[in-house]
Amino acid sequence: MTRLIVVSNRVSAPVDPAAGSAGGLAMALSAALRKYEGLWFGWSGETIEHFTGELKTEDRAGVEVALVDLEAQDVEEYYNGYANKTLWPLFHHRVDLTAYERSYGEGYERVNRRFAETLAPLIQPDDIIWVHDYHLIPLARDLRRLGITNRIGFFLHTPWPARQLLVTLPHHRRLVESLFAYDLIGFQTQEWLDLFRDYVISEARGELAGYGGLEAFGREVRIGTFPIGIDVEGFMEARDSREGVRTYDRMAASAAFRSMIVGVDRLDYSKGLEERMLGYEQFLQDHAEIRGDVFLVQVTPISRDEVDTYQDIRARLDSLAGRINGEFADMDWQPIRYLNRSYRRDQLAGIYRAAKVCLVTPLRDGMNLVAKEYVCAQNPDDPGVLILSRFAGAAEQMGEALLVNPFSREEVADAIHRALTMPLDERIRKWQALMKVVQDTDVGLWRDAYVGALKAIQLSGGDDD
Ligand code: UDP
Repeated sequence: MTRLIVVSNRVSAPVDPAAGSAGGLAMALSAALRKYEGLWFGWSGETIEHFTGELKTEDRAGVEVALVDLEAQDVEEYYNGYANKTLWPLFHHRVDLTAYERSYGEGYERVNRRFAETLAPLIQPDDIIWVHDYHLIPLARDLRRLGITNRIGFFLHTPWPARQLLVTLPHHRRLVESLFAYDLIGFQTQEWLDLFRDYVISEARGELAGYGGLEAFGREVRIGTFPIGIDVEGFMEARDSREGVRTYDRMAASAAFRSMIVGVDRLDYSKGLEERMLGYEQFLQDHAEIRGDVFLVQVTPISRDEVDTYQDIRARLDSLAGRINGEFADMDWQPIRYLNRSYRRDQLAGIYRAAKVCLVTPLRDGMNLVAKEYVCAQNPDDPGVLILSRFAGAAEQMGEALLVNPFSREEVADAIHRALTMPLDERIRKWQALMKVVQDTDVGLWRDAYVGALKAIQLSGGDDD
């Protein structure tokens, strides 16, 4: 019996899937784990004084989860440190924000080792193991050192950085070498895959292998693109739910015949929020004739507030939103509603549906699911327009959006004007093409494609099922 073991830094299997607050990824992985009678392993989010490796197991709506506590120093060095202050900025092209502290790297190695030591005894001979994201790159290497020979796959949710940036990381070679302990490495887009291949060939003298794989460091690994998507059916249900419709009605009423533009992003420097506000300001300046008929709702939940670069950008955004509002607002109109709070999926669906335009302008993004959610929430007879950064992974598939360079405030301003004045037939044509992409990349299809590819890999000398 093949079981699926999912490993991620945090385990997001919902306790009550019917509550509707879990994200698409959590729902899709939970469904797969029920099908395979699998297990979801990760950090509990709790700290203890001394690491024991003791597992807390629980059943979450038919999904077995196994959680492990970490020491405060582990969290500081591995999670806040190497994951959030080193790899996240580096993988999002922000070498200027990347912290190269030796202790962070040591904490990262230590926690991956601890994860491997705790997980290894749970693994049965036929299990396949699917590891998620940049927190856990060395995990397969550490499992192999403990004698685990099962198929192990890795999926990177973020971008892969260009070689010229990656080589600024001390021990970059060791990090990449550890990826070769996996059997399958999945990327969101062809662009990230190409960058990975470029590094391996130029820095590690790797070679292409016949079956679409790579050979380096004395091992072969398969690589592939698996663009992630949303749970289309679940999202449509959320949109049409009581709360979804109620939120839509409230937003439509509060718009009072003005056109609403929406942005939804965690507060993160990769999301291009300052550049977006400056682009919007440029639009307000350029188009005095319609500016009073438009407003921007920017939903931006605070994230990673314990990291100082996040506090800095938060302060800058507060002051930028305040300045733009102060400069342009009228007695019955405020150009930006800047909301530092989060909304549930059904509420967001209602907000998206009420918006004529959605601004998704990250400076770098692995995929960006907001772009897909916005499209999915639209009314097919009168859809809104998606403005999308060409540097989001989603742009590789969603070429029918208005693609912009998010660094250029003029381009963003022009795109806003074009979106607001786009004729209905063009909006419908674009939306239909985009909706097809959203359906074709549904998160369930993504999951099945990845698990299918991992299962199809023959282990040398082993039986496949
Ligand atoms: N999201 C949410 N409530 C909010 C803001 C965001 O549920 O108030 C969700 C949003 O619906 C989307 C996810 O957070 O599913 C953000 O995913 P994305 O890929 O766009 O960016 P990430 O935050 O993973 O970098």
